[in-house]
Amino acid sequence: MANNSAQPYRVLARKYRPSDFTGLIGQEALVRTLSNAFATGRIAHAFMLTGVRGVGKTTTARIIARALNCIGPDGKRHDPTIHPCGQCEPCVSISESRNVDVQEMDAASRTGIDDIREIIEGVRYAPVAARYKVYIIDEVHMLSKQAFNGLLKTLEEPPPHVKFIFATTEIRKVPVTVLSRCQRFDLRRIDSAELAAYLATLAEKEKVGIEDGALALIARAAEGSARDSLSLLDQAIAHGEGEMITADTVRQMLGLADRGRVLDIFEKLMGGKVAEALNDLTGLYDAGADPLAIMQDLLETTHFLTRLKVAPAAQGFFDGGSGEARRAAELAAKLSVASLTRAWQILLKGLFEVRDATRPISACEMALIRLAYAAELPPTDKLVKDLLDNPSAPRPSSSPPPAGGGTRATARVGEVATRSMPQSVPESAPTASIRNLEDIVALCEPRSELRVNLEHNVHLVHLEPGRIEIRPNARAPRTLANDLQTKLRAATGERWTVSIASQGGAPTLAEQKQAAKSARFEAVAQEPLVRAVLDRFPGAEIVAVRDMIAPDVAAPMAESDSES
Ligand SMILES: [Zn+2]
Repeated sequence: MANNSAQPYRVLARKYRPSDFTGLIGQEALVRTLSNAFATGRIAHAFMLTGVRGVGKTTTARIIARALNCIGPDGKRHDPTIHPCGQCEPCVSISESRNVDVQEMDAASRTGIDDIREIIEGVRYAPVAARYKVYIIDEVHMLSKQAFNGLLKTLEEPPPHVKFIFATTEIRKVPVTVLSRCQRFDLRRIDSAELAAYLATLAEKEKVGIEDGALALIARAAEGSARDSLSLLDQAIAHGEGEMITADTVRQMLGLADRGRVLDIFEKLMGGKVAEALNDLTGLYDAGADPLAIMQDLLETTHFLTRLKVAPAAQGFFDGGSGEARRAAELAAKLSVASLTRAWQILLKGLFEVRDATRPISACEMALIRLAYAAELPPTDKLVKDLLDNPSAPRPSSSPPPAGGGTRATARVGEVATRSMPQSVPESAPTASIRNLEDIVALCEPRSELRVNLEHNVHLVHLEPGRIEIRPNARAPRTLANDLQTKLRAATGERWTVSIASQGGAPTLAEQKQAAKSARFEAVAQEPLVRAVLDRFPGAEIVAVRDMIAPDVAAPMAESDSES
Protein backbone atom coordinates (compact mmCIF):
# COMPACT_ATOMS: atom_id res chain seq x y z
CA MET A 1 0.00 0.00 0.00
CA ALA A 2 2.93 2.29 -0.65
CA ASN A 3 0.89 4.43 -3.01
CA ASN A 4 -1.26 5.58 -0.11
CA SER A 5 1.34 7.95 1.25
CA ALA A 6 0.89 10.25 -1.71
CA GLN A 7 -2.85 10.39 -1.25
CA PRO A 8 -4.80 12.74 1.00
CA TYR A 9 -5.62 11.46 4.49
CA ARG A 10 -7.87 8.42 4.45
CA VAL A 11 -9.77 7.38 7.49
CA LEU A 12 -8.10 4.48 9.20
CA ALA A 13 -11.15 2.27 9.02
CA ARG A 14 -10.89 2.36 5.23
CA LYS A 15 -7.16 2.44 4.98
CA TYR A 16 -6.75 -0.61 7.17
CA ARG A 17 -9.78 -2.52 6.05
CA PRO A 18 -8.33 -5.99 5.66
CA SER A 19 -7.90 -6.98 2.03
CA ASP A 20 -6.91 -10.56 2.74
CA PHE A 21 -7.22 -13.07 5.54
CA THR A 22 -3.96 -12.07 7.18
CA GLY A 23 -5.54 -8.72 7.98
CA LEU A 24 -8.45 -10.33 9.77
CA ILE A 25 -7.40 -10.15 13.37
CA GLY A 26 -8.86 -12.49 15.92
CA GLN A 27 -10.48 -14.85 13.39
CA GLU A 28 -7.80 -17.53 13.25
CA ALA A 29 -10.27 -20.43 13.33
CA LEU A 30 -12.08 -19.19 10.26
CA VAL A 31 -8.85 -18.56 8.39
CA ARG A 32 -7.48 -22.01 9.21
CA THR A 33 -10.63 -23.81 8.08
CA LEU A 34 -10.89 -21.82 4.89
CA SER A 35 -7.19 -22.32 4.13
CA ASN A 36 -7.61 -26.07 4.40
CA ALA A 37 -10.69 -26.04 2.20
CA PHE A 38 -8.97 -23.94 -0.46
CA ALA A 39 -5.82 -26.05 -0.32
CA THR A 40 -7.75 -29.27 -0.85
CA GLY A 41 -10.11 -27.76 -3.41
CA ARG A 42 -13.16 -28.63 -1.31
CA ILE A 43 -14.80 -25.26 -1.19
CA ALA A 44 -18.34 -25.09 0.11
CA HIS A 45 -21.15 -23.78 -2.09
CA ALA A 46 -22.51 -21.60 0.62
CA PHE A 47 -21.04 -19.90 3.66
CA MET A 48 -22.83 -18.55 6.67
CA LEU A 49 -21.02 -15.86 8.60
CA THR A 50 -22.47 -14.98 11.96
CA GLY A 51 -21.41 -12.62 14.69
CA VAL A 52 -22.33 -9.40 16.40
CA ARG A 53 -22.47 -6.08 14.61
CA GLY A 54 -19.11 -4.68 13.55
CA VAL A 55 -17.20 -7.90 13.90
CA GLY A 56 -16.27 -7.94 10.22
CA LYS A 57 -18.82 -10.14 8.48
CA THR A 58 -19.14 -8.07 5.31
CA THR A 59 -15.41 -7.54 5.09
CA THR A 60 -14.87 -11.28 5.44
CA ALA A 61 -17.51 -11.98 2.78
CA ARG A 62 -15.69 -9.70 0.32
CA ILE A 63 -12.37 -11.31 1.08
CA ILE A 64 -13.86 -14.73 0.40
CA ALA A 65 -15.32 -13.42 -2.89
CA ARG A 66 -11.87 -12.15 -3.82
CA ALA A 67 -10.20 -15.37 -2.79
CA LEU A 68 -12.61 -17.24 -5.05
CA ASN A 69 -12.02 -14.96 -8.03
CA CYS A 70 -8.45 -13.67 -7.83
CA ILE A 71 -6.53 -14.22 -11.04
CA GLY A 72 -3.20 -12.96 -9.72
CA PRO A 73 -1.20 -9.85 -10.71
CA ASP A 74 -0.26 -11.49 -14.00
CA GLY A 75 -3.81 -12.70 -14.68
CA LYS A 76 -2.63 -16.31 -14.97
CA ARG A 77 -4.06 -17.84 -11.80
CA HIS A 78 -6.64 -20.53 -12.52
CA ASP A 79 -7.72 -21.61 -9.05
CA PRO A 80 -9.08 -19.87 -5.99
CA THR A 81 -6.44 -18.79 -3.52
CA ILE A 82 -6.45 -18.08 0.18
CA HIS A 83 -4.07 -15.20 -0.57
CA PRO A 84 -5.89 -12.93 -3.06
CA CYS A 85 -3.39 -10.54 -4.61
CA GLY A 86 -5.44 -7.38 -4.17
CA GLN A 87 -4.08 -6.05 -7.50
CA CYS A 88 -5.81 -7.96 -10.28
CA GLU A 89 -8.98 -6.65 -11.85
CA PRO A 90 -11.37 -8.98 -9.95
CA CYS A 91 -9.67 -8.18 -6.61
CA VAL A 92 -9.91 -4.44 -7.16
CA SER A 93 -13.43 -4.39 -8.55
CA ILE A 94 -14.73 -6.60 -5.75
CA SER A 95 -13.24 -4.42 -3.06
CA GLU A 96 -14.89 -1.46 -4.74
CA SER A 97 -18.21 -3.32 -4.96
CA ARG A 98 -18.42 -2.98 -8.74
CA ASN A 99 -17.77 -6.47 -9.97
CA VAL A 100 -20.70 -7.63 -12.12
CA ASP A 101 -20.35 -11.22 -10.98
CA VAL A 102 -20.23 -10.46 -7.29
CA GLN A 103 -23.58 -9.22 -6.12
CA GLU A 104 -24.20 -7.79 -2.71
CA MET A 105 -27.68 -7.60 -1.36
CA ASP A 106 -28.98 -6.39 1.96
CA ALA A 107 -31.84 -8.60 3.04
CA ALA A 108 -32.85 -5.96 5.57
CA SER A 109 -34.21 -3.83 2.73
CA ARG A 110 -35.00 -6.55 0.19
CA THR A 111 -36.78 -9.32 1.97
CA GLY A 112 -39.34 -10.49 -0.58
CA ILE A 113 -39.58 -13.44 -2.90
CA ASP A 114 -39.23 -11.15 -5.93
CA ASP A 115 -35.81 -10.06 -4.81
CA ILE A 116 -34.77 -13.66 -4.40
CA ARG A 117 -36.35 -14.62 -7.69
CA GLU A 118 -34.01 -12.20 -9.41
CA ILE A 119 -31.09 -14.07 -7.90
CA ILE A 120 -32.52 -17.48 -8.71
CA GLU A 121 -32.95 -16.46 -12.35
CA GLY A 122 -29.42 -15.11 -12.51
CA VAL A 123 -27.93 -18.27 -11.05
CA ARG A 124 -28.64 -20.14 -14.27
CA TYR A 125 -26.24 -18.03 -16.29
CA ALA A 126 -22.49 -18.41 -16.19
CA PRO A 127 -20.44 -15.56 -14.76
CA VAL A 128 -19.65 -12.75 -17.15
CA ALA A 129 -15.94 -12.51 -16.44
CA ALA A 130 -15.16 -13.99 -13.06
CA ARG A 131 -14.50 -17.58 -12.08
CA TYR A 132 -17.55 -17.70 -9.80
CA LYS A 133 -20.78 -15.84 -9.47
CA VAL A 134 -20.88 -14.82 -5.85
CA TYR A 135 -24.01 -13.69 -4.05
CA ILE A 136 -23.41 -11.93 -0.78
CA ILE A 137 -26.60 -11.60 1.21
CA ASP A 138 -26.28 -9.54 4.35
CA GLU A 139 -28.69 -9.87 7.28
CA VAL A 140 -30.06 -12.99 5.65
CA HIS A 141 -32.32 -13.75 8.61
CA MET A 142 -34.54 -10.89 7.42
CA LEU A 143 -35.70 -12.80 4.34
CA SER A 144 -39.35 -13.78 4.26
CA LYS A 145 -40.32 -17.42 4.60
CA GLN A 146 -41.24 -17.54 0.93
CA ALA A 147 -37.90 -16.06 -0.02
CA PHE A 148 -36.09 -18.66 2.07
CA ASN A 149 -38.05 -21.42 0.37
CA GLY A 150 -37.19 -20.03 -3.04
CA LEU A 151 -33.56 -19.86 -2.07
CA LEU A 152 -33.55 -23.36 -0.68
CA LYS A 153 -34.13 -25.01 -4.07
CA THR A 154 -31.07 -23.30 -5.44
CA LEU A 155 -29.03 -24.18 -2.39
CA GLU A 156 -29.93 -27.84 -2.76
CA GLU A 157 -28.46 -28.06 -6.24
CA PRO A 158 -26.32 -25.03 -6.90
CA PRO A 159 -24.66 -24.82 -10.31
CA PRO A 160 -20.88 -25.29 -9.92
CA HIS A 161 -20.14 -21.69 -10.90
CA VAL A 162 -22.20 -20.18 -8.07
CA LYS A 163 -21.27 -19.42 -4.46
CA PHE A 164 -23.41 -17.93 -1.74
CA ILE A 165 -22.07 -16.00 1.21
CA PHE A 166 -24.64 -15.19 3.86
CA ALA A 167 -24.09 -12.94 6.83
CA THR A 168 -26.30 -12.57 9.84
CA THR A 169 -26.35 -11.15 13.32
CA GLU A 170 -29.20 -13.46 14.32
CA ILE A 171 -28.33 -16.98 13.36
CA ARG A 172 -31.28 -18.44 15.27
CA LYS A 173 -33.70 -16.79 12.87
CA VAL A 174 -32.20 -18.62 9.90
CA PRO A 175 -34.12 -21.80 9.04
CA VAL A 176 -32.26 -25.01 9.78
CA THR A 177 -32.92 -26.18 6.24
CA VAL A 178 -30.81 -23.28 5.00
CA LEU A 179 -28.20 -23.55 7.74
CA SER A 180 -27.63 -27.21 7.03
CA ARG A 181 -26.54 -26.37 3.51
CA CYS A 182 -23.94 -23.82 4.52
CA GLN A 183 -20.49 -23.95 5.97
CA ARG A 184 -20.88 -21.90 9.09
CA PHE A 185 -18.34 -19.55 10.62
CA ASP A 186 -18.87 -17.79 13.91
CA LEU A 187 -16.89 -14.60 13.83
CA ARG A 188 -15.87 -13.87 17.34
CA ARG A 189 -15.56 -10.57 19.10
CA ILE A 190 -11.97 -9.50 19.31
CA ASP A 191 -10.93 -9.21 22.92
CA SER A 192 -9.86 -5.86 24.25
CA ALA A 193 -6.22 -6.76 24.84
CA GLU A 194 -5.86 -8.13 21.32
CA LEU A 195 -7.55 -5.10 19.86
CA ALA A 196 -5.39 -2.71 21.89
CA ALA A 197 -2.25 -4.49 20.69
CA TYR A 198 -3.47 -4.23 17.10
CA LEU A 199 -4.20 -0.50 17.53
CA ALA A 200 -0.73 -0.02 18.95
CA THR A 201 0.84 -1.40 15.78
CA LEU A 202 -1.35 0.88 13.66
CA ALA A 203 -0.48 3.91 15.77
CA GLU A 204 3.16 3.13 15.23
CA LYS A 205 2.68 2.81 11.47
CA GLU A 206 0.81 6.09 11.46
CA LYS A 207 3.47 7.68 13.67
CA VAL A 208 0.88 8.71 16.22
CA GLY A 209 1.86 9.07 19.87
CA ILE A 210 -0.73 7.49 22.11
CA GLU A 211 -0.65 6.17 25.68
CA ASP A 212 -1.35 2.51 26.35
CA GLY A 213 -4.16 3.54 28.68
CA ALA A 214 -5.77 5.48 25.85
CA LEU A 215 -5.57 2.47 23.54
CA ALA A 216 -7.10 0.26 26.20
CA LEU A 217 -10.01 2.68 26.58
CA ILE A 218 -10.60 2.71 22.82
CA ALA A 219 -10.42 -1.07 22.60
CA ARG A 220 -12.89 -1.43 25.42
CA ALA A 221 -15.30 1.10 23.91
CA ALA A 222 -15.17 -0.69 20.55
CA GLU A 223 -16.60 -3.80 22.20
CA GLY A 224 -14.79 -6.28 20.01
CA SER A 225 -15.28 -4.50 16.71
CA ALA A 226 -12.10 -3.71 14.80
CA ARG A 227 -13.96 -1.29 12.58
CA ASP A 228 -15.32 0.70 15.53
CA SER A 229 -11.93 0.74 17.17
CA LEU A 230 -10.40 2.25 14.05
CA SER A 231 -13.06 4.98 13.86
CA LEU A 232 -12.43 5.78 17.50
CA LEU A 233 -8.69 5.89 16.96
CA ASP A 234 -9.33 8.29 14.10
CA GLN A 235 -11.36 10.53 16.38
CA ALA A 236 -8.68 10.38 19.04
CA ILE A 237 -6.06 11.43 16.51
CA ALA A 238 -8.22 14.39 15.54
CA HIS A 239 -8.76 15.27 19.21
CA GLY A 240 -5.07 15.02 19.99
CA GLU A 241 -4.16 17.61 17.36
CA GLY A 242 -0.72 16.16 16.86
CA GLU A 243 0.07 15.97 20.56
CA MET A 244 0.55 12.80 22.56
CA ILE A 245 -2.90 11.24 22.99
CA THR A 246 -3.53 10.60 26.66
CA ALA A 247 -6.06 8.44 28.42
CA ASP A 248 -7.73 11.63 29.62
CA THR A 249 -8.18 12.87 26.06
CA VAL A 250 -9.86 9.62 25.09
CA ARG A 251 -11.95 9.54 28.23
CA GLN A 252 -13.23 13.01 27.45
CA MET A 253 -13.83 12.11 23.84
CA LEU A 254 -15.81 9.02 24.78
CA GLY A 255 -17.74 10.81 27.49
CA LEU A 256 -16.24 8.43 30.01
CA ALA A 257 -15.98 9.30 33.64
CA ASP A 258 -12.83 8.97 35.67
CA ARG A 259 -12.95 5.52 37.21
CA GLY A 260 -11.83 6.72 40.58
CA ARG A 261 -14.83 9.03 40.71
CA VAL A 262 -17.14 6.26 39.55
CA LEU A 263 -15.81 4.17 42.41
CA ASP A 264 -16.54 7.08 44.77
CA ILE A 265 -20.13 7.16 43.61
CA PHE A 266 -20.51 3.41 43.98
CA GLU A 267 -19.08 3.46 47.47
CA LYS A 268 -21.44 6.24 48.53
CA LEU A 269 -24.44 4.51 47.04
CA MET A 270 -23.67 1.26 48.80
CA GLY A 271 -23.29 3.24 52.01
CA GLY A 272 -26.71 4.79 51.47
CA LYS A 273 -25.23 8.28 51.03
CA VAL A 274 -27.53 9.13 48.20
CA ALA A 275 -27.29 12.94 48.31
CA GLU A 276 -23.50 12.87 48.10
CA ALA A 277 -23.57 10.32 45.31
CA LEU A 278 -25.99 12.43 43.28
CA ASN A 279 -23.74 15.42 43.81
CA ASP A 280 -20.82 13.48 42.38
CA LEU A 281 -22.96 12.33 39.48
CA THR A 282 -23.88 15.91 38.64
CA GLY A 283 -20.19 16.77 38.74
CA LEU A 284 -19.33 14.04 36.27
CA TYR A 285 -22.23 14.95 34.03
CA ASP A 286 -21.24 18.61 33.99
CA ALA A 287 -17.70 17.56 33.09
CA GLY A 288 -19.11 15.90 29.98
CA ALA A 289 -19.52 12.27 31.06
CA ASP A 290 -22.29 10.42 29.29
CA PRO A 291 -24.93 8.97 31.67
CA LEU A 292 -24.95 5.72 29.72
CA ALA A 293 -21.18 5.43 30.06
CA ILE A 294 -21.46 6.14 33.78
CA MET A 295 -24.01 3.34 34.14
CA GLN A 296 -21.72 1.02 32.21
CA ASP A 297 -18.81 1.96 34.46
CA LEU A 298 -20.91 1.36 37.57
CA LEU A 299 -21.81 -2.05 36.18
CA GLU A 300 -18.16 -2.78 35.43
CA THR A 301 -17.30 -1.69 38.94
CA THR A 302 -19.92 -4.01 40.40
CA HIS A 303 -18.70 -6.85 38.24
CA PHE A 304 -15.10 -6.23 39.21
CA LEU A 305 -15.87 -6.08 42.93
CA THR A 306 -17.92 -9.26 42.73
CA ARG A 307 -15.08 -11.01 40.95
CA LEU A 308 -12.72 -9.79 43.64
CA LYS A 309 -14.94 -11.54 46.19
CA VAL A 310 -14.68 -14.89 44.50
CA ALA A 311 -11.21 -14.56 42.99
CA PRO A 312 -9.16 -12.05 44.97
CA ALA A 313 -6.47 -11.93 42.29
CA ALA A 314 -8.98 -10.63 39.72
CA GLN A 315 -7.60 -7.98 37.41
CA GLY A 316 -9.44 -5.78 35.04
CA PHE A 317 -11.48 -2.68 35.46
CA PHE A 318 -9.13 -1.13 37.98
CA ASP A 319 -5.45 -1.48 37.19
CA GLY A 320 -3.41 -3.60 39.52
CA GLY A 321 -1.01 -0.98 40.83
CA SER A 322 -3.41 1.94 41.14
CA GLY A 323 -4.84 3.36 44.34
CA GLU A 324 -8.27 2.58 42.96
CA ALA A 325 -7.48 -1.11 42.86
CA ARG A 326 -6.65 -1.00 46.55
CA ARG A 327 -9.80 0.94 47.38
CA ALA A 328 -11.83 -1.49 45.30
CA ALA A 329 -10.38 -4.39 47.25
CA GLU A 330 -11.31 -2.73 50.54
CA LEU A 331 -14.81 -2.05 49.33
CA ALA A 332 -15.22 -5.61 48.05
CA ALA A 333 -14.26 -6.92 51.48
CA LYS A 334 -17.03 -4.85 53.06
CA LEU A 335 -19.82 -5.84 50.70
CA SER A 336 -21.57 -9.18 50.49
CA VAL A 337 -21.96 -11.10 47.25
CA ALA A 338 -25.72 -10.83 47.77
CA SER A 339 -25.69 -7.05 47.89
CA LEU A 340 -23.33 -6.91 44.91
CA THR A 341 -25.55 -9.10 42.77
CA ARG A 342 -28.53 -7.03 43.81
CA ALA A 343 -26.63 -3.89 42.80
CA TRP A 344 -25.84 -5.54 39.47
CA GLN A 345 -29.51 -6.21 38.78
CA ILE A 346 -30.59 -2.71 39.67
CA LEU A 347 -27.84 -1.14 37.57
CA LEU A 348 -28.51 -3.41 34.61
CA LYS A 349 -32.16 -2.44 34.63
CA GLY A 350 -31.06 1.16 35.01
CA LEU A 351 -28.76 0.85 32.02
CA PHE A 352 -31.65 -0.02 29.73
CA GLU A 353 -33.73 2.77 31.19
CA VAL A 354 -30.94 5.29 30.64
CA ARG A 355 -30.50 4.07 27.08
CA ASP A 356 -34.20 4.49 26.29
CA ALA A 357 -34.91 7.62 28.29
CA THR A 358 -35.55 10.99 26.65
CA ARG A 359 -33.51 12.50 29.49
CA PRO A 360 -30.81 9.94 30.24
CA ILE A 361 -29.38 11.84 33.20
CA SER A 362 -32.75 11.71 35.00
CA ALA A 363 -33.04 7.98 34.42
CA CYS A 364 -29.49 7.62 35.67
CA GLU A 365 -30.30 9.52 38.87
CA MET A 366 -33.39 7.40 39.47
CA ALA A 367 -31.40 4.20 39.09
CA LEU A 368 -28.78 5.47 41.51
CA ILE A 369 -31.40 6.46 44.08
CA ARG A 370 -32.93 3.03 43.77
CA LEU A 371 -29.58 1.41 44.31
CA ALA A 372 -28.84 3.56 47.36
CA TYR A 373 -32.16 2.67 48.93
CA ALA A 374 -31.84 -1.00 48.14
CA ALA A 375 -28.36 -0.96 49.66
CA GLU A 376 -29.63 0.80 52.75
CA LEU A 377 -32.71 -1.27 53.39
CA PRO A 378 -32.86 -4.45 55.25
CA PRO A 379 -36.27 -3.95 53.68
CA THR A 380 -38.84 -5.88 55.70
CA ASP A 381 -37.29 -5.06 59.07
CA LYS A 382 -37.40 -1.38 58.46
CA LEU A 383 -40.84 -1.50 56.97
CA VAL A 384 -42.33 -3.42 59.85
CA LYS A 385 -40.83 -0.92 62.24
CA ASP A 386 -42.50 1.84 60.28
CA LEU A 387 -45.71 -0.09 60.46
CA LEU A 388 -45.48 -0.45 64.22
CA ASP A 389 -44.55 3.18 64.70
CA ASN A 390 -47.73 4.02 62.89
CA PRO A 391 -50.46 4.50 65.54
CA SER A 392 -53.15 2.97 63.35
CA ALA A 393 -51.30 -0.32 63.39
CA PRO A 394 -52.02 -2.93 66.06
CA ARG A 395 -50.40 -1.96 69.32
CA PRO A 396 -48.45 -4.30 71.58
CA SER A 397 -50.54 -4.96 74.69
CA SER A 398 -48.05 -5.14 77.47
CA SER A 399 -50.09 -3.83 80.39
CA PRO A 400 -51.67 -6.45 82.64
CA PRO A 401 -55.34 -7.08 81.93
CA PRO A 402 -57.92 -5.83 84.42
CA ALA A 403 -58.78 -8.58 86.87
CA GLY A 404 -61.88 -10.53 86.05
CA GLY A 405 -62.17 -8.88 82.66
CA GLY A 406 -62.63 -10.98 79.52
CA THR A 407 -62.79 -14.54 80.69
CA ARG A 408 -63.86 -15.63 77.26
CA ALA A 409 -60.93 -16.61 75.16
CA THR A 410 -62.16 -15.21 71.93
CA ALA A 411 -59.12 -13.10 71.38
CA ARG A 412 -59.29 -10.82 68.40
CA VAL A 413 -56.80 -11.43 65.70
CA GLY A 414 -55.10 -8.07 66.14
CA GLU A 415 -54.64 -8.73 69.83
CA VAL A 416 -53.03 -12.07 69.21
CA ALA A 417 -50.78 -10.66 66.58
CA THR A 418 -49.04 -8.35 68.97
CA ARG A 419 -49.30 -10.16 72.26
CA SER A 420 -46.10 -11.22 73.84
CA MET A 421 -45.58 -14.85 74.64
CA PRO A 422 -43.59 -15.18 77.81
CA GLN A 423 -40.93 -17.84 77.47
CA SER A 424 -40.35 -18.36 81.18
CA VAL A 425 -42.71 -20.44 83.26
CA PRO A 426 -44.14 -18.80 86.37
CA GLU A 427 -44.13 -21.10 89.38
CA SER A 428 -47.74 -20.48 90.19
CA ALA A 429 -50.58 -18.22 89.16
CA PRO A 430 -53.85 -17.23 90.81
CA THR A 431 -56.89 -18.71 89.12
CA ALA A 432 -58.29 -15.26 88.38
CA SER A 433 -55.26 -14.36 86.26
CA ILE A 434 -56.08 -17.14 83.78
CA ARG A 435 -58.38 -15.47 81.33
CA ASN A 436 -57.58 -17.20 78.05
CA LEU A 437 -55.90 -20.22 76.54
CA GLU A 438 -52.64 -18.38 76.04
CA ASP A 439 -52.40 -17.77 79.76
CA ILE A 440 -52.63 -21.52 80.26
CA VAL A 441 -50.08 -22.18 77.53
CA ALA A 442 -47.77 -19.76 79.30
CA LEU A 443 -47.90 -22.00 82.39
CA CYS A 444 -46.52 -24.96 80.42
CA GLU A 445 -42.88 -25.79 79.85
CA PRO A 446 -41.67 -24.55 76.46
CA ARG A 447 -41.99 -27.34 73.86
CA SER A 448 -43.74 -29.65 76.32
CA GLU A 449 -46.29 -32.03 74.86
CA LEU A 450 -49.16 -30.34 76.69
CA ARG A 451 -48.11 -26.95 75.38
CA VAL A 452 -47.88 -28.15 71.79
CA ASN A 453 -51.30 -29.80 72.08
CA LEU A 454 -52.90 -26.72 73.61
CA GLU A 455 -51.50 -24.61 70.79
CA HIS A 456 -52.35 -26.86 67.87
CA ASN A 457 -55.11 -29.25 68.84
CA VAL A 458 -57.48 -27.40 71.16
CA HIS A 459 -60.48 -25.20 70.39
CA LEU A 460 -61.43 -23.19 73.43
CA VAL A 461 -65.20 -23.18 73.96
CA HIS A 462 -65.54 -21.56 77.37
CA LEU A 463 -63.27 -20.40 80.17
CA GLU A 464 -64.03 -19.01 83.60
CA PRO A 465 -62.10 -19.26 86.88
CA GLY A 466 -62.09 -22.91 87.89
CA ARG A 467 -63.88 -24.18 84.80
CA ILE A 468 -62.75 -24.73 81.23
CA GLU A 469 -64.55 -26.28 78.27
CA ILE A 470 -62.53 -27.34 75.25
CA ARG A 471 -62.98 -29.19 72.01
CA PRO A 472 -59.83 -31.20 71.22
CA ASN A 473 -59.33 -32.03 67.55
CA ALA A 474 -58.59 -35.49 66.18
CA ARG A 475 -54.87 -35.19 66.76
CA ALA A 476 -55.20 -34.46 70.48
CA PRO A 477 -54.29 -37.36 72.81
CA ARG A 478 -57.05 -38.93 74.94
CA THR A 479 -55.23 -37.94 78.10
CA LEU A 480 -55.37 -34.26 77.28
CA ALA A 481 -58.27 -33.33 79.58
CA ASN A 482 -56.59 -35.10 82.48
CA ASP A 483 -53.20 -33.57 81.79
CA LEU A 484 -54.75 -30.13 81.58
CA GLN A 485 -56.62 -30.59 84.81
CA THR A 486 -53.47 -31.71 86.61
CA LYS A 487 -51.51 -28.79 85.20
CA LEU A 488 -54.13 -26.21 86.20
CA ARG A 489 -54.39 -27.60 89.67
CA ALA A 490 -50.63 -27.60 90.11
CA ALA A 491 -50.30 -24.09 88.76
CA THR A 492 -53.13 -22.43 90.64
CA GLY A 493 -53.47 -24.61 93.73
CA GLU A 494 -57.18 -24.84 93.04
CA ARG A 495 -59.44 -27.53 91.64
CA TRP A 496 -60.50 -27.10 88.00
CA THR A 497 -63.29 -28.67 86.00
CA VAL A 498 -62.23 -29.57 82.48
CA SER A 499 -65.09 -30.54 80.17
CA ILE A 500 -65.00 -31.68 76.56
CA ALA A 501 -67.34 -30.18 73.98
CA SER A 502 -68.13 -31.95 70.72
CA GLN A 503 -68.48 -28.78 68.68
CA GLY A 504 -67.84 -25.07 68.55
CA GLY A 505 -65.01 -23.14 70.08
CA ALA A 506 -62.49 -20.62 68.84
CA PRO A 507 -59.85 -21.49 66.24
CA THR A 508 -56.76 -23.13 67.71
CA LEU A 509 -53.98 -20.81 68.77
CA ALA A 510 -51.94 -22.05 65.83
CA GLU A 511 -54.77 -21.19 63.47
CA GLN A 512 -55.13 -17.77 65.02
CA LYS A 513 -51.43 -17.21 64.68
CA GLN A 514 -51.57 -18.21 61.03
CA ALA A 515 -54.53 -15.91 60.40
CA ALA A 516 -52.74 -13.09 62.17
CA LYS A 517 -49.68 -13.73 60.07
CA SER A 518 -51.66 -13.63 56.85
CA ALA A 519 -53.42 -10.47 57.93
CA ARG A 520 -50.11 -8.99 58.84
CA PHE A 521 -48.49 -9.92 55.53
CA GLU A 522 -51.43 -8.39 53.74
CA ALA A 523 -51.16 -5.24 55.79
CA VAL A 524 -47.42 -5.04 55.24
CA ALA A 525 -47.88 -5.63 51.54
CA GLN A 526 -50.12 -2.56 51.42
CA GLU A 527 -47.46 -0.38 53.01
CA PRO A 528 -46.30 2.14 50.36
CA LEU A 529 -42.63 1.32 50.86
CA VAL A 530 -43.23 -2.41 50.65
CA ARG A 531 -45.42 -1.89 47.62
CA ALA A 532 -42.60 0.03 46.06
CA VAL A 533 -40.14 -2.76 46.85
CA LEU A 534 -42.48 -5.40 45.45
CA ASP A 535 -43.10 -3.39 42.30
CA ARG A 536 -39.44 -2.80 41.84
CA PHE A 537 -38.42 -6.43 42.17
CA PRO A 538 -40.85 -8.39 40.03
CA GLY A 539 -41.38 -11.81 41.54
CA ALA A 540 -40.40 -10.66 45.02
CA GLU A 541 -42.52 -11.93 47.88
CA ILE A 542 -42.74 -11.26 51.56
CA VAL A 543 -41.13 -14.18 53.33
CA ALA A 544 -41.03 -12.96 56.88
CA VAL A 545 -42.30 -10.08 58.96
CA ARG A 546 -40.41 -9.36 62.15
CA ASP A 547 -40.99 -6.91 64.99
CA MET A 548 -38.37 -4.32 65.63
CA ILE A 549 -39.85 -3.11 68.93
CA ALA A 550 -37.71 -3.30 72.04
CA PRO A 551 -37.42 -6.88 73.29
CA ASP A 552 -38.45 -5.96 76.85
CA VAL A 553 -41.74 -4.62 75.55
CA ALA A 554 -42.62 -7.65 73.50
CA ALA A 555 -40.65 -10.74 72.66
CA PRO A 556 -40.63 -11.56 68.95
CA MET A 557 -44.03 -13.07 68.62
CA ALA A 558 -45.39 -14.55 65.46
CA GLU A 559 -42.39 -16.40 64.13
CA SER A 560 -43.51 -15.82 60.61
CA ASP A 561 -41.09 -17.71 58.49
CA SER A 562 -42.46 -18.90 55.23
CA GLU A 563 -43.85 -22.37 54.91
CA SER A 564 -42.29 -22.98 51.58
ZN1 LIG B 1 -6.25 -10.75 -7.24
